[in-house]
Amino acid sequence: MERADVESAPAGMQRNNLYAIHKRPVCSKKQTGWYVSALFLIAAAVVPAIGNSGSSQLQETRHAPHWGYSGQAGPSHWADMDGKFALCGSGKRQSPVDIRDANPQALYPLDFQYRPVSLHVLNNGHTLQANYNTASGDTTVVIGGNTYPLKSKQVYDSTLMLGDVPYNLLQFHFHSPSEHARDGRRFPMEVHLVHKNANGNLAVVGIFLKRGKHNPTLQKLLEHVPSTLNTVSNGTGITINATDLLPESRKMFHYGGSLTTPPCSENVNWFVMKTPIEVSDEQVRKFTQLIGRNARPLQQAYWRDMLVSE
Ligand SMILES: [Zn+2]
Repeated sequence: MERADVESAPAGMQRNNLYAIHKRPVCSKKQTGWYVSALFLIAAAVVPAIGNSGSSQLQETRHAPHWGYSGQAGPSHWADMDGKFALCGSGKRQSPVDIRDANPQALYPLDFQYRPVSLHVLNNGHTLQANYNTASGDTTVVIGGNTYPLKSKQVYDSTLMLGDVPYNLLQFHFHSPSEHARDGRRFPMEVHLVHKNANGNLAVVGIFLKRGKHNPTLQKLLEHVPSTLNTVSNGTGITINATDLLPESRKMFHYGGSLTTPPCSENVNWFVMKTPIEVSDEQVRKFTQLIGRNARPLQQAYWRDMLVSE
């Protein structure tokens, strides 16, 4: 996944949170009163990732470490580029991983509560991304059946409920080839839907794209790529709905991992859908012409369990 922010989870929460879903949410203190500050924090946290994989962008990124996917900027060098990227080299719960030998378990179903939003496309040089921050005139927001007042009109009104914890959808973006693998095999592409909860922990839903039919949602992004890097295209009058990316079957794999890009923070609940969706050869070609190959190498699983919904 592309980074959504550089915050870490509060101390003591990271370890437990990762397996919060298939049992009871461990960070389950009733979350009253979080909403207003959380919405502000989330709004503030969503800055486009900076940096670029193209050598022509060196000047632009001189204040930020220049990471990419090949050569001296490639994944094997990320940890050495900045102290903040240390986990990219030393972490023991890194992503992506090869998905194999999964243990069947009664996982909480993923409860997607997505709404259509205006298309906002970002090319940050690492990926093509649709931002999901939407302006709303609402004065209240309903999350998990409860109504909360809003002080800010900037809200994230598309949510993934993990148990009783809402995770707001921030953005989705694509990788080619897929970052995760199934039994050692990678797919032509993978889409990552990035969500964040009030504690700063992330939930990312990964969906494989196999060769087949044209993907209408990816096509909307490809047809509205901003001409300038790190700027967001606005006002196209086109809407997208992340629901359109979800396969019919909600069966999934689940494990605790990390961002797949620097700083490789290890506060990510990963859910990789078992059923792939489709993408055409032409779309894969267009994407790689624009972005290049943007998949981090597979990371060791170490002691981690890979679970699969029954
Ligand atoms: Zn990603």
